[in-house]
Amino acid sequence: AISVRGLQKRFGAKTVLSGIDLDIHTGDVTCIIGPSGSGKSTLLRSIAFLDPYDSGDVQVFGKMIGWRETPLGRERAGAKELAETRRPLGMVFQHFHLWPHMSVLDNVTLALRLAHGAARKQAEETGRAMLEKVGLATFADRRPDSLSGGQKQRVAIARALACKPKAMLFDEPTSALDPELVGEVLSVMKTLAAEGMTMVIVTHEMGFAAHAANRVVFMDGGRIVEEGSPRALFAEPKSMRLAQFLQTWR
Ligand code: ATP
Ligand code: MG
Repeated sequence: AISVRGLQKRFGAKTVLSGIDLDIHTGDVTCIIGPSGSGKSTLLRSIAFLDPYDSGDVQVFGKMIGWRETPLGRERAGAKELAETRRPLGMVFQHFHLWPHMSVLDNVTLALRLAHGAARKQAEETGRAMLEKVGLATFADRRPDSLSGGQKQRVAIARALACKPKAMLFDEPTSALDPELVGEVLSVMKTLAAEGMTMVIVTHEMGFAAHAANRVVFMDGGRIVEEGSPRALFAEPKSMRLAQFLQTWR
């Protein structure tokens, strides 16, 4: 469903991703772990082309994202083409980016109404169904300010789901939350995983990675150092770097 080949990304003189190969199959729940600065967010952002990658090939459901091949080489895809290729991806970040002056329901349906051109009635039907899915059916008319961090993040998940993504990308969705609010967000994500949603999750929640993921990818220094089942990675790390990284979480 998502294929990454030879992905390279530099910021100025600094190489941040140096040749990433990764396949995300439909129904996979892949957790990406690794130390700070290892390139996890950059990889996720490259998949959605929020950061334009320098070379390599990222295919999102069969279509190269962000670039198009021409007889003279690569050129950047137009905004419309990019939006079209990105459409199957839902995204959730550490910070929720909800509009404070809009109701929860309007936040959830905004993209549907603007980018996808859905009629208000239909958008609201979808929006309410997604709020129900994340356990916030009764919060539709509230303002985001009156919600806890965990509730806000669940609204952000509902907002992403409203556009009917084929895969969801999460970048540390629980890192900005008070510890007691982490569980409610992870539990929504576990439900999604159980329903077969294809998910790529950058996380420091090793317990979640161990139990909800069917695949774990360990990055360090802009490369994938190890990948495999959670059991294989957590119980029998092959590399020193992963063993050391896991030490810090025990
Ligand atoms: P963390 O766990 O702290 O979120 P990460 O694994 O997500 O780390 P990235 O955010 O992908 O790491 O960053 C990888 C490297 O790229 C870091 O050295 C970072 O400083 C650098 N970097 C990221 N974004 C930019 C940017 N916009 N401009 C310059 N350097 C950047
Ligand atoms: Mg990051």
